[in-house]
Amino acid sequence: MPNPRRRRSPSLQGRQRAHKNLEAKTFSTCPNCNAVRKPHCICPTCGYYKDRAYEVKVTA
Ligand SMILES: [Zn+2]
Repeated sequence: MPNPRRRRSPSLQGRQRAHKNLEAKTFSTCPNCNAVRKPHCICPTCGYYKDRAYEVKVTA
């Protein structure tokens, strides 16, 4: 199994982690209710996608 040869020093670890989560998440707005939603996903507020209403399953 491939394993890292040596432990990363704390400064190197921090330098590498500094570039994590820097990209902005992409969002699109719902054409039905103008709410912010993820692209290619059903709108969580009105349940619409591509001019059609879908049943939004709520998982508690
Ligand atoms: Zn919507």
